[in-house]
Amino acid sequence: MSYKTKIFPATESHIKDAAAALRAGKLVIIPTETVYGLAANAIDAEAASSIFSAKKRPFFDPLICHIADYDMLEILTDHLSPALKRLTKKFWPGPLTIVTIKSEKVPRIITSGLQTVAIRMPAHPVAISIIKEAGVPLAAPSANLFGKLSPTRPEHTLDLQQSVHSIIDGGPCEIGVESTIIRELDGKIVILRPGKITPKQIEETVHMPVITSNETEVPDAPGQLPSHYAPASPVVLIDEGETPSEATSKSVLLAFRKDRDNSPFMAATVLSATGSLNQAASQLFDCLHKLDKLSPDTIYVERVPSKGIGIAIMNRLTKAAFNKVG
Ligand code: AMP
Ligand code: MG
Repeated sequence: MSYKTKIFPATESHIKDAAAALRAGKLVIIPTETVYGLAANAIDAEAASSIFSAKKRPFFDPLICHIADYDMLEILTDHLSPALKRLTKKFWPGPLTIVTIKSEKVPRIITSGLQTVAIRMPAHPVAISIIKEAGVPLAAPSANLFGKLSPTRPEHTLDLQQSVHSIIDGGPCEIGVESTIIRELDGKIVILRPGKITPKQIEETVHMPVITSNETEVPDAPGQLPSHYAPASPVVLIDEGETPSEATSKSVLLAFRKDRDNSPFMAATVLSATGSLNQAASQLFDCLHKLDKLSPDTIYVERVPSKGIGIAIMNRLTKAAFNKVG
């Protein structure tokens, strides 16, 4: 018996079918430039609620709404501050999510009861076509089970295929880590989650202080839990070139940039031979998915420099390694 997946190429007819399914309240997995998203009509509370059940995501973790144009922005919010407006003009479409006061039309389930809503305009032609064709904003968290590794290729999302109408293949995600999330508070921009858009880029655009939120302050960014993005095997962070004495032939290594002594590891992968942080980000989740499939006793991962998108990579790795032995 042949096993058929629900992964379809991003042809006009599959995009039309997916959009019709979304309008009918179903779930569709869509590509974006950051990670693959599990999408539903953002202004249909029942459709949005099925995202939480499919992902086993707690209801206190609000969703990001994805729009294709500025008309859709007006469905979700009645007012944007001048600073947020400037940032959207500069970085949209792209990997920046803004948190702003929600309109009446946004169901409470989307925002976990908050008065604010998170919004992004993705820079992926297939995502934009699907949103446009659906004609409504789409709530779309990463298309993985809650707390697990994020998907950057369609095949990473197969765990969820029973819950969805279709998975639209847009190729590997170019950026590979989730969007930068920001809000404005007391004349400052607060980074709620680091991503490709850096504090420096934001500061240069709005000439306001940019601070990083303390992730333990629950009201700022609910859902940013210390443990997240985790493979099945434990992750332990090490320094570049380090060989931990506990490593065995059942362990695997995810190195940052160069060939190194791979003993005693069962397998080793390099994030970026040239040491490019952008390439490391785009490879990160795919490498972790592949190493995790080998069922190692431990995945040792080399730390990367905490600059630019390296800050987002280290944020995801620290959460993947949270509470693990080693
Ligand atoms: P994701 O899991 O990629 O869909 O990202 C959703 C994250 O965005 C949540 O875990 C929250 O931390 C953040 N978020 C969404 N909506 C809000 C909001 N209204 N206020 C603050 N943070 C939000
Ligand atoms: Mg996620």
